[in-house]
Amino acid sequence: MTHPPARRRAARLRTIQRRIAQLQYICSGTVSHQARQCGKPTCACAADPAAWHGPYYVWSRREEHRQVNTMLPQELGRFFEQAVENYRKLRDLLRVWERASAEALLAMTGTNSIRRPHLASERKTRSPRKRRRR
Ligand SMILES: [Zn+2]
Repeated sequence: MTHPPARRRAARLRTIQRRIAQLQYICSGTVSHQARQCGKPTCACAADPAAWHGPYYVWSRREEHRQVNTMLPQELGRFFEQAVENYRKLRDLLRVWERASAEALLAMTGTNSIRRPHLASERKTRSPRKRRRR
């Protein structure tokens, strides 16, 4: 595998860093939302599913080895959903950043990509041929 030129590698790293900097809030866990019936027999929700209350947002995550659920104000549900999505994006970006960093640093050493660990054994089989040529 050939490495992309240093300029392109640097631009790629800056793109990853810019995307990370754009993430405002990050939250672990999940956000669920659902409409509910209040249970009052005279309420419209008793007969009409379209009149159910909500949606009610719940943010669920693990804190210190236990599950924590928090009811959210309806108007903030979207922010928490976005924050959970941002955290997923961040984890993806960190993986890409790590790979791009390894590629850039290994290119400086002249070593081939870490994706091809078998190259070390290939070198062993090639080196005797080189010695014969000398
Ligand atoms: Zn009701």
